[in-house]
Amino acid sequence: MKKDNWQLENTYTELPEIFYSLHQPVPVTKPELVCFNEVLADQFGLGFLDQENENIADYFSGNVIPDGAKPLAQAYAGHQFGHFNMLGDGRAIVLGEQIDTTGKRFDIQLKGSGQTPYSRRGDGRATLYSMLREYLISESMFHLGIPTTRSLAVVTTGEKVFRGQMHNGAVLTRTAESHIRVGTFEYARHFGSTEDLRGLAMYTIERHYPDKKDTDNPGLELLKTVMHKQIDLVVDWMRVGFIHGVMNTDNMSIAGETIDYGPCALMNSYNPNTVFSSIDTQGRYAFGNQAHIAQWNLTAFANALLPIISEDQKKAVQLAQEVIDGFQYKFTERWYKMMFDKLGISHPEEKDKELVDNLLALMETHKADYTQVFLTLQQDTLIENALFKSEDFKDWRQKWEATYLREGLVGPSLELMNRSNPKVIPRNHWVEHVLNTAARGEMEPFNELLEVLSKPYDDHPEDLQFQQIPEDFDAGYQTFCGT
Ligand code: AMP
Ligand code: MG
Ligand code: MG
Repeated sequence: MKKDNWQLENTYTELPEIFYSLHQPVPVTKPELVCFNEVLADQFGLGFLDQENENIADYFSGNVIPDGAKPLAQAYAGHQFGHFNMLGDGRAIVLGEQIDTTGKRFDIQLKGSGQTPYSRRGDGRATLYSMLREYLISESMFHLGIPTTRSLAVVTTGEKVFRGQMHNGAVLTRTAESHIRVGTFEYARHFGSTEDLRGLAMYTIERHYPDKKDTDNPGLELLKTVMHKQIDLVVDWMRVGFIHGVMNTDNMSIAGETIDYGPCALMNSYNPNTVFSSIDTQGRYAFGNQAHIAQWNLTAFANALLPIISEDQKKAVQLAQEVIDGFQYKFTERWYKMMFDKLGISHPEEKDKELVDNLLALMETHKADYTQVFLTLQQDTLIENALFKSEDFKDWRQKWEATYLREGLVGPSLELMNRSNPKVIPRNHWVEHVLNTAARGEMEPFNELLEVLSKPYDDHPEDLQFQQIPEDFDAGYQTFCGT
C-alpha cells in the first residue's frame, strides 16, 4: 500500500511536443476552499489533504505546485457547431497523473487557472457559479452510474471575473481518465505528421484500451472501441434525460466519460427537441439529436484516423465507413434495451419496441415528466398528469402488462426498474437555487442537494422537494458556455 501523498506521473509529456505546452497555473490573490470531495481524495491517496490541511487551498488554486507535477496545457482542435477550429486548454492546466487505490491512472486538472498559450481572447478564468455547477452535476452523474469526469475541489480566488457583470472567481479541480478528445486526434491530423498521429493513437490505446494493443490495425480498432463507448454513454444520458448541450468534438472524450458541464441541463417534460443552451439556436444538441451528433463526431474521429488506418486512403475510407455505418443499428438496439429496462421488461420481443415508441409519443403529447412517469409506473402510484387519465394510456398499460403476464409474472421487473429509473435527478430549478445561495456564501443548501444526489436510486422521504417538477417545466431556462 502506497503512502498517502502526491504521486504525480507525467506520461503525457512522452508524447511529441506539439501535443502540449509546459505552463504554470497563474497564481490567485486569496485562495479559499469552498468544496472538497473527501471520498474522491481518499481514492487518489490524497486523504492527508483534509479540510484542516493548511496547504489545501494553495494546491487546488494552483498557487502551490505539488511535488512531481509537470503542469501543462493540452493542445487540441475541434469542430464547434460543425466548424473546425484550433483550440487547446485555454483555462485549464493538467498537473499530472495520479494513480488511484485500484491502480487506475487519472489526470488531475485545474480549471479556471489562468491564461495559457491557447487562451485566444479568453481570460483563462472561471466563475464560482459555473465551477460549483460542474461539481454538483458531474458528481450527480457519477452517482447515477454514468461515466464522467469528477470534481475534487473548488477554491475561490479572491478575484473577480467579468461575464457581462462581475462574479466571484474560482478554480475547479477536475479528475478524468484522461483529457484526450476526438479534437486531440483532429489536431494531430491537421497540425502534425502521420507519426505524431500514430504516436497519439498508440499512447491512447496503451492508456485506455491496453487489451487492444496487439491488433493489426490500431487505428481501426480505436475507432470501433471509442464508438462503442460513446454509444453506451449517450444511451446512459438518454436514460436519465441528460442534455449535454455542447457536443463539439473537443468535448467528446476518448475514454468515454461525460466531459464539459458548461451548458448541460436535465429534461423535465419529455420532448426530444428540448434545448437549454443559449447559443444552440438551431437545436443541434437537442435531447433527441444526441445520438446523431455522436455519430457525426465519430465520423470526424474516423477522418482524423484515416492516415493510420491504411496507407491506401481509399481503402482507409472504406474500412472506416463500415465501422461508422454500424452506429445506427448498435445505438438503436442499446437504446431499446435501456428503455425496456426502464419499463421492467426483462424478456422483450421485437414487437415490444412499439410499446416504447408509443409511451414516448404519449408523454410528449401530455407533457409528462420523463423522470416521474417511470417512477409512477414502478411504484404503481399515479401522479397528477393528463397522461394517466387518457384512454390511450389505459390501452398502453394493458399492452405493457401483457409483456410480463407473458412471462408468467405478476408485475414488471422491479429490480431492472429500480436501477434504471432515478428517484432524484439534478432538477434545473434546484441547481439554480443552491448555486445562487452558494454565490452569497451559504453552502448548506448546496451540500444538502449534493448529499441527496449521491444516492439517486434511494427513496428520500425527508427530501421530496428535490423531486418536484418545476411548474413551467423550466420554460425559458437558459444555460451558458465558458462562464
Ligand atoms: P468549451 O465551449 O467549454 O468546450 O470551450 C471551448 C474552448 O474555449 C476550450 O478550448 C476552452 O479552453 C476555451 N475557453 C473557454 N473559456 C475560456 C476562458 N475564459 N479563457 C480562455 N479560454 C477559454
Ligand atoms: Mg470544452
Ligand atoms: Mg466548457
